[in-house]
Amino acid sequence: MNRAEEDTLIWLPELKGDFSTASAFEAIRNKGVRVHWHGAVWNRFTHPKLAANAWKLYSGRAAIDLAAKKKGIQLASKCKLCGLQEEDLNHLLWQCDFADKTWNWLAGKFKFGACFRNSRDAMSRSTTSESLSKSCGRWR
Ligand SMILES: [Zn+2]
Repeated sequence: MNRAEEDTLIWLPELKGDFSTASAFEAIRNKGVRVHWHGAVWNRFTHPKLAANAWKLYSGRAAIDLAAKKKGIQLASKCKLCGLQEEDLNHLLWQCDFADKTWNWLAGKFKFGACFRNSRDAMSRSTTSESLSKSCGRWR
């Protein structure tokens, strides 16, 4: 038997058959279902670190007290920003006085007018990402 007839290992996920950790990761990762807000979070205008944080917030995977309670962890939850209410995502992003002041400050800086009150409203106004990119630069 000559060398050309010997069996060789072929990595099927790659067209050339060569193994790589990147192709292995791509083959085994759970891609899930693409959500309607995918393009608003993962785009060339948003820094990957910010996109990852936004993804955690929108997909309900943010590390907040309510998430810990749902996992059975007993704790006394209180908003770390105002100390007035229980910490949940709705309060942190929309109802907390600190969040309200932050949104108003951002609205003034980026000139997107009246402030929004929930994530759906924010997404509907995210069409200004092109103008934001001109003032902030592109990340990718
Ligand atoms: Zn608060």
